[in-house]
Amino acid sequence: MAILRCPACSAEAAASSRELVCSCGEPFDVEHAFRLVGRETFDARGLHSPAPQDSGVWRFRELVYPRFPSEAVISLREGNTPLYASAALRAFVGLEQVRLKHEGLNPTGSFADRGMTVAVSRAAANGARHLACASTGATAASLAAYSAAAGLACTALVPSEGAHAAKLAQARAFGARTLVVRGDLERVRVLARELARSGALELVDERNPFRIEGQKSIPFELLAQLGWRAPDWIALPAENHGNAIAFAKALREARYLGLIDRLPRLLAAGTECAPASRSRSAERASRALAETHGQAVDISAEQLASAKRAIDHAGLGCDLPSAAGLAGASELVRRGRIGPEESVVVVLDSHLLAHGSDGADSESALEPELDVLRRALET
Ligand SMILES: [Zn+2]
Repeated sequence: MAILRCPACSAEAAASSRELVCSCGEPFDVEHAFRLVGRETFDARGLHSPAPQDSGVWRFRELVYPRFPSEAVISLREGNTPLYASAALRAFVGLEQVRLKHEGLNPTGSFADRGMTVAVSRAAANGARHLACASTGATAASLAAYSAAAGLACTALVPSEGAHAAKLAQARAFGARTLVVRGDLERVRVLARELARSGALELVDERNPFRIEGQKSIPFELLAQLGWRAPDWIALPAENHGNAIAFAKALREARYLGLIDRLPRLLAAGTECAPASRSRSAERASRALAETHGQAVDISAEQLASAKRAIDHAGLGCDLPSAAGLAGASELVRRGRIGPEESVVVVLDSHLLAHGSDGADSESALEPELDVLRRALET
């Protein structure tokens, strides 16, 4: 049994609903009943398991909603990402127990694949033919790959400002169509929602609660890798609100099921925590942080760059925004907020090759109007 519930006004919708955002404007949460499953169920599964349990998401299938028959799962064997230890990075943070969970080693190079396997499996099972997203790159590349695996059409609406040319090339290679629209990501997100309302395409956006369900597998997997001994802290880039929300939900569920006996604290680090905190998703992310007695920490652009250099020089590598967690952990150690005996897992969102925001081709950008986009989609 599962329902969608609005975390703001408690309104309910059926789990099969096509509308994933409450009428009050807040994205729904998935609430589902759990079968009681123990650690041994998950510990017995791995890369040797039959598909789809060889995926780091579907290894935890009892904890991820919806539950599909195996043959209905669209998986690229996402997850199973390494948990690295590095003497150089221990020295950088100034702590004995530091590990790095590298989500950049997913099939398309980012954590987004964890959510896409769930959201695209659901869309395909519900008969969707054409999936779409608004994205500057990583989401588009991931949605394009999973749409291709499902045999569905995919369109990415891309803002002319802040797009990652390499990630868009990746999306096109997977067969997706990319429409560059003049403006920034927020503007293009609004247009994408309006387009989806007409029913021509199904939006798999950042508000999709089934992507959150898949992203929960990051903390499940790192806890399993640590023998279910929860670390004191898990450090994330603050700009990834979806992961903060997914992590808090997963940790709550893991404790409820007795998989862990205490909640790690979430640490969200970013160079612009304050300005972003006005959006709904940022408010939800800060509630998620509070739920784990976590902490948001501001870091400077220099601290971010220096953390990235340390990660790159340790041979791991990541894109610039991914380095925020390590910079934040190091700052909290410096302030004495993280004690010398405490342990930290730092999550890296994306691969080194996702680095750089080099802009989309704004020469041919479409005007940000619904009619223009509709015509572009029809040609
Ligand atoms: Zn509501």
